Amino acid sequence: MDLVKKLFQGDERSAARLISLIEEGSSEGFEAIRLIYPHVGSAQKIGITGSPGAGKSTLTGKLAAILMDEGRHIGVIAVDPSSPEGGGALLGDRVRMGEADKTGRVFIRSMAHRGYPGGIAKAAIGATYILEGLGKDTIIVESIGAGQAEIQISVLCDTIVTVVTSGYGDEIQLMKTGLIEIGDIIVVNKADKPGAQEVVQDISIHFSNTEKNGWKIPVVAVSSLTGEGFETLKNNISRHFDFLKHADNYIDKKREHLETLMLSLLKEEIWDRTMNMLNGSEEFKLILDGLKEKRIDPYEAVRRTSEIAFKHKILV
Ligand code: GDP
Repeated sequence: MDLVKKLFQGDERSAARLISLIEEGSSEGFEAIRLIYPHVGSAQKIGITGSPGAGKSTLTGKLAAILMDEGRHIGVIAVDPSSPEGGGALLGDRVRMGEADKTGRVFIRSMAHRGYPGGIAKAAIGATYILEGLGKDTIIVESIGAGQAEIQISVLCDTIVTVVTSGYGDEIQLMKTGLIEIGDIIVVNKADKPGAQEVVQDISIHFSNTEKNGWKIPVVAVSSLTGEGFETLKNNISRHFDFLKHADNYIDKKREHLETLMLSLLKEEIWDRTMNMLNGSEEFKLILDGLKEKRIDPYEAVRRTSEIAFKHKILV
């Protein structure tokens, strides 16, 4: 396939085109993945999660710029959960990541998060393969951490960096959300503002007895504006990658992650097909009317809806 041949030669336009094909669900895109897949799998994947406004994009830009200066080839995938379906590349992220993008040597792609609740964009997984095919040795996936999205990003990436800020006020509340639990490294961003050290202390106490399979979670204060703390962050990311690679169960874990990843893709596929079919269904509309008017209980509504789905043979 011509696009794949060009991709392997380092052609960015082909990479962009292939990612679009995957986003569109085109069979040409999936055929390309079949060709690319045997050649990829060794790039380092870093996931950046955190609440909106925590500074993920700014931090991603800074980190990408620093790693690039070391001679690494960086690809960035930014998943925007709030953007409308089919939003494509979002200018906003490009602007915010300006620092890394200026050189043109970092490939940045934003993708819209489509309908399915609780997953990073389905296409983000394929995009990591495509970027590696393009020759990127380090791929940063930026995604808001929310619910099950975190699970997918943690099986897709080697190291998860969770970004929090000193502006939260009630850090205990933050911990209760579970947002920082998936992090392999916790970053307290905006350390140029007051209060960052207190947050570092609170979170460090919270994690003082916690280990992730033998990994002690570091808490690092950084400023994505000034660059303070990035050396420590970078060192911790490579320390974690080394830690993973030298773990006894490294291969088993990788295999387990592939299974989890595939099952979440399957879930999304079934959801997409079901919703596409139900969208135009008169029968489904009647069920919803019954539900809203309390004539049908929610369980019965699900049972009847499933019947429609089976009748339409959504999986054949
Ligand atoms: P995201 O929604 O998590 O991607 O957050 P952004 O990267 O868009 O950042 C949100 C706002 O915080 C922007 O106005 C940034 O300029 C600002 N910001 C990001 N990092 C820092 C930082 O380290 N210090 C300060 N003072 N502001 C920051």
